[in-house]
Amino acid sequence: MDCCGHEGPGSGDARFEIKKVADGVHVAVAAPAYKVNSNTALIESDGGVIVVDTHSKPSAARVIIERLRDLTPKPVRYVVNTHFHWDHWHGNEAYPAAYPDAEIVTNQITREAMVTKGLERIQDHVRQGPGEIARLKTDLAAARAPEQRAKLEADLRLAEAYLAEVRALRPALPTIVFERTMRLYRRDREIQLLHLGRAHTEGDVFVYLPKEKVVVTGDAVIGWTPFMGDGYPEDWVATLDRLAQLDFTHIILGHGDVAGREWLRTFRSYIHDMVEAVRQEVAAGATLEEVKQRVPAKLAAVYEKPFSAYADYRPWRTGVLGNIERTYAMVS
Ligand SMILES: [Zn+2]
Repeated sequence: MDCCGHEGPGSGDARFEIKKVADGVHVAVAAPAYKVNSNTALIESDGGVIVVDTHSKPSAARVIIERLRDLTPKPVRYVVNTHFHWDHWHGNEAYPAAYPDAEIVTNQITREAMVTKGLERIQDHVRQGPGEIARLKTDLAAARAPEQRAKLEADLRLAEAYLAEVRALRPALPTIVFERTMRLYRRDREIQLLHLGRAHTEGDVFVYLPKEKVVVTGDAVIGWTPFMGDGYPEDWVATLDRLAQLDFTHIILGHGDVAGREWLRTFRSYIHDMVEAVRQEVAAGATLEEVKQRVPAKLAAVYEKPFSAYADYRPWRTGVLGNIERTYAMVS
């Protein structure tokens, strides 16, 4: 891995480091942001570029479009969405605007989730924006320490910019869907889009390049504690076991730096051990509050450190509580 990292000028909280993963395969690793951005995989092929995931807003996707022009003159042909969460598809509209022939691809389950849940959540963001801005203004008025004031001022600017952007959003839904598998055979590359079962959402899509031994996971695997609010913790492990059967060396995560198979093993075993610990507690009759006390204490020795690479941004101690709540609700 090497090459060409630079940050976007005047792009708010959309900052990316572009890294080469294989010949013609790059990832834009998103820096932690006030409004979280996903990573984007950029796969060049003879027919054009395939982009995987489009961040939380069109302005962030436009940063990628600019960066892409440093890498290749080829147009974007396909945009793949790995799942229906806002931080992976709200930037979609930037691509057909810049490349009129671009098609947006996902699986049937994910497109349906965008229509039934995603569109509504855009309206939630529009409704919740003013309250969030008012809270930041109250906090700013009460803040004294210069460092804290600077942080709140920056967050306030980002919250205001985001609200303006989400109000103007013109959600670009996928134009092509598949059921379980879609394969693109290019002269120079084979690209597989795979649904391997439920994990982070009901419809997670993996993008697999068998020749280059690269897989793009969306948020089924990330660099910090997984978010399980729409997830299926009990199915997740089996889905990752199916993923592990594929032959690859490099994993482009939904969030966080490029990883190897070692991280997949750690990530999988965290979910497995968390689910098993919750299940045992529930079987013994523990309340949710008791489970939230005991399970982090039990798992911390093994998992707190590996899941703390982005500890300031997404602390494990907070993430694990959300994971326990979701798992508790599903197993009890
Ligand atoms: Zn995400």
